[in-house]
Amino acid sequence: VSTETVDLLLSRIRDVPDYPKPGVMFKDITPLLADPEAFTALTDALAALCVEHGATKIVGLEARGFILAAPVSVRAGIGFIPVRKAGKLPGATLKQAYELEYGTAEIEVHAEDLSAGDRVMVIDDVLATGGTAEASLELIRRAGAEVAGVAVLMELSFLSGRERLESALHGAPLDAL
Ligand code: AMP
Repeated sequence: VSTETVDLLLSRIRDVPDYPKPGVMFKDITPLLADPEAFTALTDALAALCVEHGATKIVGLEARGFILAAPVSVRAGIGFIPVRKAGKLPGATLKQAYELEYGTAEIEVHAEDLSAGDRVMVIDDVLATGGTAEASLELIRRAGAEVAGVAVLMELSFLSGRERLESALHGAPLDAL
């Protein structure tokens, strides 16, 4: 993406200190979502990456990943697959647990949504520790599908999510706009 686009996107992300708890600098994307020019530029950039990496399915990670992945899916003409927090999908699912700072969390996907031969792009707003994205890559692999890549708006590089994802990516690209 151009530096103008990066500047536009950055200008629409609000830093909220100590949210949701002390010591966390929360990256609030709601100003970006409210600006059609910025939201369109973001959608176009993410859709271009999905096409470039030959994706056949686009996974959005609940919840903010859904907001980005849905228009990207329409723009790219590639189906959208929700990866949800456990207990929200009505059909047969694959589940994956992962570690949080305190305790564990679980995400799941409809088993029938991903299969061998699919190349799956994972989309989220922020890559922090990489725990959520890593669990989603594990789900994709367990479904027999291939990872086309991970694309996020922002990577908080000081949390080393990129290093954590490296083995689960199997050489697939991780793009942070
Ligand atoms: P992680 O599993 O640590 O990579 O966390 C990723 C998830 O938490 C993403 O879906 C983000 O939406 C959210 N998240 C983590 N840290 C932040 C932050 N500083 N600002 C906004 N969202 C965050």
